[in-house]
Amino acid sequence: MLGGVPVLILKEGTRRERGKEAQKNNIAAARAVADAVRTTLGPRGMDKMLVDTLGDITITNDGATILKTIDIVHPAAKMMVEVAKAQDQEVGDGTTTAVVLAGELLKYAEELIDSNVHPTIIIKGYRMAVEKAIESLKQEGFAIKVNPDDEETLKKIAITAMTGKNVGGAKEHLADIAVKAVKYVAREVDGKLKVDVDDIKIVKKHGGGVTDTEIINGIIIDKEKVHPRMPTIVRNAKIALINAPLEIKKTEFDAKIQIRSPEQIKAFIEQEEKELKKMVDRIREVGANVVFCQKGIDDVAQHFMAKYGIYAVRRVKKSDMEKLSKATGARIVTSLDDLSPEDLGEAELVEERKVADEKMTFVLGCKNPKSVTILVRGGTEHVVDEVERSIHDALRVVGVTLEDGLAVPGGGAPEIEASLALLKYAPKVGGKEQIAIEAFARALESIPKALAENAGLDPIKILIELRKAHEEGKKTYGIDVVEGKIRDMLEINVIEPFRVKKHAFESAREVATMVLRIDDVINAKGEEKKEEKEKEKPETPKFPEF
Ligand code: ADP
Ligand code: MG
Repeated sequence: MLGGVPVLILKEGTRRERGKEAQKNNIAAARAVADAVRTTLGPRGMDKMLVDTLGDITITNDGATILKTIDIVHPAAKMMVEVAKAQDQEVGDGTTTAVVLAGELLKYAEELIDSNVHPTIIIKGYRMAVEKAIESLKQEGFAIKVNPDDEETLKKIAITAMTGKNVGGAKEHLADIAVKAVKYVAREVDGKLKVDVDDIKIVKKHGGGVTDTEIINGIIIDKEKVHPRMPTIVRNAKIALINAPLEIKKTEFDAKIQIRSPEQIKAFIEQEEKELKKMVDRIREVGANVVFCQKGIDDVAQHFMAKYGIYAVRRVKKSDMEKLSKATGARIVTSLDDLSPEDLGEAELVEERKVADEKMTFVLGCKNPKSVTILVRGGTEHVVDEVERSIHDALRVVGVTLEDGLAVPGGGAPEIEASLALLKYAPKVGGKEQIAIEAFARALESIPKALAENAGLDPIKILIELRKAHEEGKKTYGIDVVEGKIRDMLEINVIEPFRVKKHAFESAREVATMVLRIDDVINAKGEEKKEEKEKEKPETPKFPEF
């Protein structure tokens, strides 16, 4: 205030929340997001039916998918969504865990703030806690070393990641495919295994059953050959990738040709045909017997190609052209004049095959042996989409386990183990941080609690039993959601990558910290909304005056 006159630095209508009020609102919003996905956690988690603005329906219990699909406006809630997305992108699993844990960390933080612990202390305590928690997961007798050749364990990890997904009893089959595919694309870089699951292509086709899903040693393009008289199979394929129309160029401006006699028409058409034949001749001369064209192919050109026994596909997507280039070693040319024999790619076989009711082009035995595709099948589009998401998760978890060579038992075992480690560690730290570390320990318990709850079990009873088992050294004990009791997770093959847990703990801490750091929310949008509303108000209809 200057001499009693308020100094205005913010636009009129800007909403502002400060201090505890801002913190409380943010925490409430972030926790609402956690609550929205909590019931989906674990193999017995419920599904959510999501309807987007266009009326499209997705049914899933995948945390990342749910949060990606729902439209969230509150900034703090959006931060939770970002964390879920990051967790999904970086490890491919554990998104619900991260979000639920973050919500719980915020719940306890709020209690601490209410009893006058400053957010910076909580933030510090949480940071110390997360380090200790992760360290506890690496301890001997808990972590499981995974050898790259240990396909059995890798499969168990894939199956664990797929539990709760509606893939119609095909988990075993899909896990097998996932492990094969990942091992196929794994490379050694500086003595370490690296897996880029983007190297594994996924093509979806509904029709058939989920168990018809197969792994293909090559690439599939969802297009048929352009002319029925072209060969259906080409062995020792020499592949040209052309990003130019195999058509006569239209002039850029409107041109008129005046033709006065039938001879002139004939000559004109012949001239066009000649041009098109020249194009096809050029393709034949360089030795290509397969053409993927990003643009159109004229009927006449098709005719000549068929005559020469060339297999051609037109209007191929840019992304498919790039895949083909990477797989076959072909270079994409933008003009036929540039096409030379060195630009051609190679594959053992190019074949048109019927999948469900549609024809697709299979490019098999590519020059680059790391080209693999998973052809996902299933009764309906919804099933195929869910299978795709499940396979994607499976690929990611197998990939990260192969890279790290480390896994942990699941079913709440890691969270209990880490929680107990923190409760032992906290008194050694002392001070107010001790309370924050203990809060972290309690927040971790929310995961086994939610798993138990979602399985219709008594969460408190299970929690007490689990704590007791772990204190007695039964570290691999978790929740058997089918039998409804605690038991050794290794006996029922519930195994997860170490990295999924590590990352989930870290991201949960990160988002909780971000939310806690904010003590001032200045929202200029308030004003805009008001204006928009005014605009939306229907004008009073004006009638013409008589
Ligand atoms: P997220 O998005 O966090 O991966 P999920 O819904 O996939 O969420 O649930 C993962 C949790 O379910 C993990 O804690 C995992 O250990 C547990 N889980 C998976 N399969 C089983 C099982 N068969 N029995 C008990 N717990 C399981
Ligand atoms: Mg999961």
